[in-house]
Amino acid sequence: MNKTEHKVYQGKRKSKKRQLVYETLAKKELPVTAEEIFMEIALKDDKISLSTVYRALEAFMADGIVQKTMIGESSNGLFEVRANEHKHYLMCVECKKMLAIKDCPLQDYENQLEKTTKFKIKSHQLQVYGVCEKCQKN
Ligand SMILES: [Zn+2]
Ligand SMILES: [Zn+2]
Repeated sequence: MNKTEHKVYQGKRKSKKRQLVYETLAKKELPVTAEEIFMEIALKDDKISLSTVYRALEAFMADGIVQKTMIGESSNGLFEVRANEHKHYLMCVECKKMLAIKDCPLQDYENQLEKTTKFKIKSHQLQVYGVCEKCQKN
């Protein structure tokens, strides 16, 4: 739990449904679509709607606690909790399987960029595509 995560549970943004959306998302190891979150919550609470899930995700993004990643060509975006230790993903272009890459290879590069450009680097995106072992055999 970092400081920003607590923001969800406090103040005017507090709502049971949003909390549910957040908790469902926080349990995920890999980024998921809004539809996946909706389906999972709908199994437990049929009163939730997909637009509620979208609104909650948008509020979380505005708070900077959730980030949206565009992966693949036809993707509507995948959501994940913004962790202190951010992750990158390796994705199989055939079966769309994703693997989290533990270490960020760009940390040193960012530091170097800050020095040379005088930018204060805020974030970056890196998505690696490939063909997984299983798909290589097919
Ligand atoms: Zn594959
Ligand atoms: Zn990184």
